[in-house]
Amino acid sequence: MKISFDLDDTLILTDKDTEYEKPVKFIRALFFKEKLRKGTKALCEELKSLGFDICVYTTSERSVGYIKRLFGVYGIRLSKVINQKIHKELVQGTRKEIMPSKVPSKFGIDLHVDDDISVKQNGIQYGFNVLIVSKDDKNWELKVLNEAKRIKKNKNYMETETIG
Ligand SMILES: [Mg+2]
Repeated sequence: MKISFDLDDTLILTDKDTEYEKPVKFIRALFFKEKLRKGTKALCEELKSLGFDICVYTTSERSVGYIKRLFGVYGIRLSKVINQKIHKELVQGTRKEIMPSKVPSKFGIDLHVDDDISVKQNGIQYGFNVLIVSKDDKNWELKVLNEAKRIKKNKNYMETETIG
């Protein structure tokens, strides 16, 4: 199973009083101006133990290599990164109709986590799962974990039903 996270205002916060994650690679961290949100590492570890691959889906133009290295500073291995460029190529393509800003289901992602309510609305319209977490939510990890568990349970149930 796959879970993806938005970056800006979801895992990368820029408010003054933001609490940041502790890097596991201290020297390498010095080369990065950006830091991950506190709790990200433990959450990703729990998600992995539930069987989720961790992905990033961002509409920013940060490069795939940069994003992978940034997460590497915290010991998090990303299985997939979708940035604006990849989204444009694979989702928008040569389509005339304007596609939503993110279509996680196109990449086999079971749950996407974002701060932008319009992504949730697109999810309802296009049929993909989105959990909204706000940047000042102190219990955000728990919400993500609970939703991931729910999605996993639903998927298992659906698969059993199809086989049975
Ligand atoms: Mg965002």
